[in-house]
Amino acid sequence: MNPFKYSRAHDTGAAISQAATTNGAKFIAGGTNIIDLMKLYIENPPALIDINQLNLNKIEVLSNGNVMIGTLVKNSDLAYHPVISQKYPVLSEAILAGASAQLRNAASTGGNLMQRTRCPYFYDTQFPCNKRVPGSGCSAIPGYNRDNAVLGTSDKCIATHPSDMCVAMAALGAIIHVQGPKGTRTIPFADFHLLPGQTPHLEHNLHPGELITSVELPALPFAAKSHYLKARDRASYQFALASAAVALDIQNGTIKAARIALGGVGTKPWRSMAAEQALVGKPAGHKAYQAAAQAALTGAKAYKDNGFKIELAKRTLVQALTKVGGMA
Ligand SMILES: Cc1cc2nc3c(=O)[nH]c(=O)nc-3n(C[C@H](O)[C@H](O)[C@H](O)COP(=O)(O)OP(=O)(O)OC[C@H]3O[C@@H](n4cnc5c(N)ncnc54)[C@H](O)[C@@H]3O)c2cc1C
Ligand code: SF4
Repeated sequence: MNPFKYSRAHDTGAAISQAATTNGAKFIAGGTNIIDLMKLYIENPPALIDINQLNLNKIEVLSNGNVMIGTLVKNSDLAYHPVISQKYPVLSEAILAGASAQLRNAASTGGNLMQRTRCPYFYDTQFPCNKRVPGSGCSAIPGYNRDNAVLGTSDKCIATHPSDMCVAMAALGAIIHVQGPKGTRTIPFADFHLLPGQTPHLEHNLHPGELITSVELPALPFAAKSHYLKARDRASYQFALASAAVALDIQNGTIKAARIALGGVGTKPWRSMAAEQALVGKPAGHKAYQAAAQAALTGAKAYKDNGFKIELAKRTLVQALTKVGGMA
């Protein structure tokens, strides 16, 4: 690990001004991703700003019914909070499907949003990787790419976004609140993570020095009828091969509204409006779910070792929809 400066911020303003005055400084929350990356020399920030003393660890229901989640809320606390487990089970289930209990106790909401890909070539500095060293090449495209993405890829990078929590938040249409040297702003979830395109090292829509302060979940009554399903190589402690976050509003057997996002297959948490549109107005049942799965994976591009993910993602989505909407 390279030497770095460590400081502890005691209020949000101080954290932001410290970040803005040291080029390349990073925040540290749970430390479960940034420290690993620093040990491997993948990230080499000159300074770490510890934000754990900030007063950003509350979950509050606003008067309009929206839920505000402070950036420092631990993944476990979020998953087990009664408002989340009862009104947004998809989010609770997604978080509990990720990592291990110990990691979830340390990992924060903001840190989970900002976690970096698990592409094996990104982690191995012996290999070229455009995300790690811009312009050096992508080892996964010609290499072993079983775990890589089939949606949103480019000729520069095919890394999947690793988060489970973010898949549920994408489906729920969360809003990210940030504060930076130029003030506060909000970012719709769909605009937060960037597609790799020609610049895979640019992964998110945060400006230098900006701090995520909270994530807002819109009040969505039908989110109570939701589910997260994760397919992976082993039952726990494993990133998704394919996953689906679904919520359905069904009235008298007809689907009135739907929310769908996929994980494990996209270069960012993958909300599928096409799949949602395929469901609306249709009778809840297998035929509609199959059509949604087909729509969700339209345009998917298989690479040498990961073509199986296209069928796996379709089946995962159909199974999740069946669990929420029932058979017909
Ligand atoms: C073995 C292992 C298995 C895992 N399995 C899964 C899994 O199956 N599913 C899954 O979803 N995740 C998994 N994870 C990832 C884990 O969820 C993340 O490491 C964790 O959520 C990151 O949160 P953190 O608070 O520790 O972030 P940190 O490591 O502290 O920070 C991560 C990044 O976020 C930035 N950051 C943190 N807070 C803020 C903020 N408020 N504003 C701006 N930037 C910020 C930091 O600067 C850093 O760049 C796994 C991790 C490990 C080590
Ligand atoms: S897929 Fe992306 S992260 Fe993986 S080696 Fe290629 S450029 Fe790097």
